[in-house]
Amino acid sequence: MNGSDRALRVPLIVGLTTIVAVLAWLGVRDADDRVGANLAGTVALSAAAFACWRVSRAAPTPPVRGFWLLWALTAACLVLSTIANMLHGAPGIPLYEAIPTLLALGLAMLAFRHVPLAPRTRADGARMLLDGIAVAVAGTVFFTYVLLNAVPEGTSAGTLIAAAAVGVGCLLALVVFGKAAVSPEGSVDPVALAILTIGPLAGLVAVMLVLGGTETGMLLLLVLGYPLVGMGICAAAYRQSRVLHVQPPKRPRWSIGGPLQFIAVTGTAVLVIIVSARELDGRGRAVVVGAVLIAAIMVARQLLSLRENRLALRGVRHQQTELERLALSDYLTGLPNRTGFTLALTDRLDRGRPATVLLIDIDDFKMVNDTLGPSAADQLLARLAERLRRCAHGDRESVARLGGDEFAVLMPSGDPAGIEAAAARFQHAVGRPLPVGEQRFLLHASIGVMVAEPGDTADEVLRNADIAMYAAKSAGKASWVRFEPRMRKDMTGHARLAGELHDAIQGGQLRLLYQPVYDLVTGRMHGAEALVRWQHPERGFVSPVDFIPVAERSGLIVPLGGWVLREACTQLARWRDSLKEGAVEAINVNVAVRQLREAGFVDEVAAVLSDTGLTPRNLVLEVTESSVADGPQVAETLRDLHEMGVRLALDDFGTGQSSLSLLRAFPVDVLKLDKSFVDGIADGADRGRLAVAAAVAQLAEHLELKAVAEGIESQDQLERLRDMGYRYGQGYLMARPLPADECAALMTAEPLAVAATGGRHP
Ligand code: C2E
Ligand code: MG
Ligand code: MG
Repeated sequence: MNGSDRALRVPLIVGLTTIVAVLAWLGVRDADDRVGANLAGTVALSAAAFACWRVSRAAPTPPVRGFWLLWALTAACLVLSTIANMLHGAPGIPLYEAIPTLLALGLAMLAFRHVPLAPRTRADGARMLLDGIAVAVAGTVFFTYVLLNAVPEGTSAGTLIAAAAVGVGCLLALVVFGKAAVSPEGSVDPVALAILTIGPLAGLVAVMLVLGGTETGMLLLLVLGYPLVGMGICAAAYRQSRVLHVQPPKRPRWSIGGPLQFIAVTGTAVLVIIVSARELDGRGRAVVVGAVLIAAIMVARQLLSLRENRLALRGVRHQQTELERLALSDYLTGLPNRTGFTLALTDRLDRGRPATVLLIDIDDFKMVNDTLGPSAADQLLARLAERLRRCAHGDRESVARLGGDEFAVLMPSGDPAGIEAAAARFQHAVGRPLPVGEQRFLLHASIGVMVAEPGDTADEVLRNADIAMYAAKSAGKASWVRFEPRMRKDMTGHARLAGELHDAIQGGQLRLLYQPVYDLVTGRMHGAEALVRWQHPERGFVSPVDFIPVAERSGLIVPLGGWVLREACTQLARWRDSLKEGAVEAINVNVAVRQLREAGFVDEVAAVLSDTGLTPRNLVLEVTESSVADGPQVAETLRDLHEMGVRLALDDFGTGQSSLSLLRAFPVDVLKLDKSFVDGIADGADRGRLAVAAAVAQLAEHLELKAVAEGIESQDQLERLRDMGYRYGQGYLMARPLPADECAALMTAEPLAVAATGGRHP
């Protein structure tokens, strides 16, 4: 217990001692002694004023300090009331006693300004005012009718007015105290607040006693009433001092407005019934007027609540719409997101309206993302989204972002010409250069188109559009493909194939063939490319063209490629062992981008080389142009391999996004001209392809790279290619992919006449 607690016990003890002393003294002496009777109250209330002042001094926060200071003044005013009562010799309440009492009530109510009565909205304030008025009116009606009827003859008008005023004041004070006691938060202690209600309650009893006119009652009031109020205030102050530094717990909010109204309305209603039963006199009329007033107030209060409820409801609805909007839209682009799009699509399908979905996926966006970094890539996507939105036709087509670099367009019809035009329009929109910061980016999109059939669900439509989009990607990207049911079969076929491929790798169904690469000038075998074959137990031979893409998509390419690398290197080591100088120097192994993305790929290559006793010079890894452009991680892997001494060949050169800067940026050693260019060479009909073939040879010469022509099938092709500057070649004309022993036999065979002399194959 702290110091202020101890100090506060003094007024309590002084007050109680005085009360006991006065009671004893009155018992012994004159029970009619007004001075004596008032003395206990005076002392108790003075003690209360002191206690409140002490608490206000010790209070940590301004509201609590203000509250108790006003209560100190309240108690002081009541001391004045007791003194006024002492001076008044006659029975009843003198007006000059009522004035300090009313002042005290006013100050007490004012003190509650420091206690948050409830969350302080204007409506709360208005409601409280209405409650107060209702209670005041009810109180007035009560006093004017019931009590005045019972007041003995000869009671002075002054006493009547004073009693009514104090009574109504006490009622009002009860409303205020009650509200404060149930306020959900506040710094003044709730127990202290509850104790303080003794004041107005005692006031009401006092008024009734006074109006009852019994002098004994009066004395009882003086002897017990004022001291009781004083001690109550003391106790409240004491209680507050004990919990001064403790944050009062939050109280559940409940309203006493309801019960108060109920008492006011029913009380008045009973009076109205009684009055109406009798003849109406002046007071009766007052009752009726009061009743009407209270009814009006209640109506106003209800209207107020109604309005408030409506406002709250509107707020909730607004929030709900806002939340829905956020849940259905994409944070980056503001377009509808996948959920929003699915809802719109479902809505159309449910109404049986035609719907077509274009699923737009940006090609090689991963590369853009890696080059630009995530925030600039986001900027690019936001720009692209804006462009797609503008590209959409008014409100007939709607664009959404399904996630990442995937967008979707919902179109209202399925007519083929319209779809083709739309696909071309969106492809064109993606294909124009997009500026981001200083740079301009050129993007391409693969588009899958799905025309919804009656009875389709949104999920099916999106899944099929996705399948079509993948078909577009496999068809060489930057294109659009319309979904056909067989594609789904292909997809499931692929899934089954992937499962079987898994067993094939483990079960030894794979083997390697080796296709010789010839020196077109000397006619000697220069190297060999390892090409994987799958002998399926039921399907028979499965082409790598069919299963390599499946392996890439499923990730199986990683173990598969690992097996090929080890097997090919082992084979070269065997050849070099048995054929010595006669064996080719290096073996070419195809590597998929998925393998290059594996963090441990460089280590794997090093391990295979060291296990097989080869040097990095003995290995050429064939990669495609698109894998070189995959991103920084793959680029680093390629540089590490090159530094190690492994050579890199760009396979199928000329078919991808061949870019000269790519050749400068990456450590390439060999260019392999794609077969499609070789095909067009012989008859010379395709001048464009001819020009590319020639340009690639020149490029290789300038950059000091080896140029290899793939897929040579005729003598004519070979000669033209050699004339263009191709030193090396590979094709059925010289040799098909062969088993290891057949390939070994060719290594030691005579040089190919077909190459060196331009004559026929021996
Ligand atoms: P590629 O690396 O461009 O291999 C050359 C392909 O052209 C081989 O087909 C080869 O048999 C074929 N070819 C060679 N000369 C001629 C010719 O004169 N005429 C014709 N019509 N074709 C010729 P293959 O073995 O079916 O392989 C196809 C593709 O599968 C390869 O293209 C390569 O991209 C991939 N591939 C094959 N084996 C592997 C492997 O072990 N790993 C990876 N990642 N991919 C592989
Ligand atoms: Mg190859
Ligand atoms: Mg190739």
